[in-house]
Amino acid sequence: MAEPSRLDIRNVSKHYVVNGQQRLDVLSAIDLSVEPGAFVSIVGPSGCGKSTLLRLIAGLDGDYRGDILLHGERVAGTSLSRGIVFQDHRLLPWLTLEDNIALSLENAGWNKAKRAEAIRSHIALVGLTGFEKAYPHQLSGGMAQRGAIARGLVGQPEILLLDEPLGALDALTRLRLQEELQRIWRVEGVTMILVTHDVDEAIFLSDKVVVMNAGPGRIVREFDVGIPRPRERSGLAFGELKG
Ligand code: ADP
Ligand code: MG
Repeated sequence: MAEPSRLDIRNVSKHYVVNGQQRLDVLSAIDLSVEPGAFVSIVGPSGCGKSTLLRLIAGLDGDYRGDILLHGERVAGTSLSRGIVFQDHRLLPWLTLEDNIALSLENAGWNKAKRAEAIRSHIALVGLTGFEKAYPHQLSGGMAQRGAIARGLVGQPEILLLDEPLGALDALTRLRLQEELQRIWRVEGVTMILVTHDVDEAIFLSDKVVVMNAGPGRIVREFDVGIPRPRERSGLAFGELKG
C-alpha cells in the first residue's frame, strides 16, 4: 500500500457557468486538512457542493480557485493516487468483475503478474472471491458496490473518495457495507473521504465529520468524533460477508 497521504485544501472556491452565461457559485473558501490514514466524512444538504468538492479532490476537474495539495503538490489530472466510488457502481455491463477492476490498472505500469495478484487480492478483500467472471447484472446491488470499492482500491491509491456509496442500498446491506468499509480502512491503511447524507453513518465510520451548507457551499462545522479506532492491520478477509 502506498503511504497514506496528507491532503490540504486551501481556500478553494468553484463556480459553474450555467447555460453559457449564468454564474453559479458552488464552493466558497473551503479549507480542510486530512491527516494521513484519516477517515473523514462530509455531510450536508443536497446541492451544497459535496460531489463537486470530491471531483476536485479526485482531479476530475481542475477548474477551481485556491489550492488542493497532496503532499504539497497541486492536484491536477486523474491518477492512481486517488480512487473514487460513486452511488451507482458504474461497473461496465459488458465486462466481467475482474475485467472491470483490471481497467483501473491499465495505466499503472505494472507487469501482468502484479496486476493479476492485485485484482485477486482486492476481489478477496471485498468478499467476492468466486465472482471474478460474473457480469455486473449477475451481482446484487451490494455486491456490485463492493466490486466498485475493489476497483477503487486496486491501484493502491493513497485516498479513497466515496460519494454516497451506500445511498442506493437497502438498510441491511448498507449496515453490512458500513462495517466492511471500516474494516477495509483498517486493513488497507488508506485515507478515506466519505460523502454521505446519513449523519449516523458519518459518526459511525469516521474520525472527523465535516458539515457543509449551501449557498454557496462552505464548511460550517468540523468535529472530531473522538472514538479511538484500532489501526493495526489485521489481515482480515471478508469472505463471510454477503449482501
Ligand atoms: P451535492 O453533491 O452536495 O448534492 P453537487 O456538487 O452535485 O452537490 O452540486 C452543487 C451545485 O452545483 C448544485 O446546485 C448543482 O445543480 C450544481 N452543479 C453540479 N454540477 C454542475 C455542472 N456540471 N454544471 C452546472 N451546475 C452544476
Ligand atoms: Mg452529490
